[in-house]
Amino acid sequence: MKKVLILGGGFAGLEAAIFLRKDKYDVTLVSDRDFFYIYPTSIWVPTGETRFQDICVDLKELQKAHGFDLIVDGVETIEAASRRITLKSGDILNDFDYLVIAMGASKMKAKGIENSLSICGAPQQSLLIKEKLDELIAKGSGKIAFGFGGNPNDTSAVRGGPGFELLFNVHNMLKKRGLRDKFELNFFAPMPKPGARMGEKALKMMDIFLERTMVQKHFGKKIKAFEEDGVIFEDDSKLQSDFTMFIPAGDGHEVVKSSDLPKNPAGFIKINDFCEVEGFENIYAVGDVAAIEGPDWRAKQGHLAEVMARNVAHNINEKEKNRTNKKGYQEHLNILCVMDSGDGAAFVYRDDKKARMIPLPIVGHWLKKGWGKYCRLSKLGSIPRIPGM
Ligand SMILES: Cc1cc2nc3c(=O)[nH]c(=O)nc-3n(C[C@H](O)[C@H](O)[C@H](O)COP(=O)(O)OP(=O)(O)OC[C@H]3O[C@@H](n4cnc5c(N)ncnc54)[C@H](O)[C@@H]3O)c2cc1C
Repeated sequence: MKKVLILGGGFAGLEAAIFLRKDKYDVTLVSDRDFFYIYPTSIWVPTGETRFQDICVDLKELQKAHGFDLIVDGVETIEAASRRITLKSGDILNDFDYLVIAMGASKMKAKGIENSLSICGAPQQSLLIKEKLDELIAKGSGKIAFGFGGNPNDTSAVRGGPGFELLFNVHNMLKKRGLRDKFELNFFAPMPKPGARMGEKALKMMDIFLERTMVQKHFGKKIKAFEEDGVIFEDDSKLQSDFTMFIPAGDGHEVVKSSDLPKNPAGFIKINDFCEVEGFENIYAVGDVAAIEGPDWRAKQGHLAEVMARNVAHNINEKEKNRTNKKGYQEHLNILCVMDSGDGAAFVYRDDKKARMIPLPIVGHWLKKGWGKYCRLSKLGSIPRIPGM
């Protein structure tokens, strides 16, 4: 049985493990945390609508369900040419036929970033955001700023959607508690039209949502620094804030940056359409860790990470069977999400031909909740997978 080593236990790494095990490969998965984290539904942890543990799926349970070997340890270095992985514990992994790198992205580091928290950062940050919001609610009033940043070296690594989702959820939570008029909600981003890659119609609709929820907009000014009590912009103006939630853009993973893997200017691993790492035999990169090629609006997303992972499982199988019918990820490039607002959601879809945003009042919120449950149960093998999901 050929041996596959997978680095990372997120959407990409786990999906690769599940599909390679279906084909009976000897799979070892390395993850620096002992749980799979369902990022898209973590937006409800800060408002208390979901418990942190409901977003986490124990990797040991997933191991039992699919039969892969699990190492909970951090990857310290990757030496691709000598096919040698060193773990934080000092252990060395070099006995594998195929390597699948799926460790996600690091984050851009703005000055004073420690004065903010991110819903897209380490999972535990969602709990810290909850603490901050609870503190302000106990105080009875305050100013809250939500925002996201850019990466000039790779626009696909920008993630703004969860920022909007959290903002709308906080708005609705405050409204329900009769406190909305006691809080000033702000949204900031360095680009003049944040969210533009979802398409013109979506942009207009977001504008209507922001107006309706009385959110003050601060767009088109580069961010200079974060301070304890606010955000400083390039022109030295300051957005006062008692709490700042900021999503830095993704950046190449630190371990990848210091490796001999080929990288784009932002530090993401260069791959071809089949997720094969340029210049290396039997080494693949999938999900947020990889440089995604395609149209300007392309985005790193969970469903794309899963398509890439399934393709890699298929492509490895083709290789083992001396066949050449490989699958590429680029034909699957699209933006697809259900953007939640706490009292409903909007279905967002964009590809080369069309861009849509369809409001789904009330039902959209429950659809996304249902997807979270489906994600957990289907990954655990407790319910069947819906093809393509
Ligand atoms: C709040 C939020 C909401 C989102 N909503 C959506 C959505 O609605 N739809 C959508 O399609 N996408 C969404 N996304 C994007 C989606 O979650 C990511 O694209 C997806 O998680 C990428 O999967 P990945 O496996 O490549 O990376 P990750 O999910 O980041 O997983 C990386 C894995 O590698 C592990 N790892 C990292 N470094 C090391 C190391 N040194 N050693 C060992 N292991 C390591 C981590 O522990 C983790 O298990 C959202 C993201 C966030 C943050």
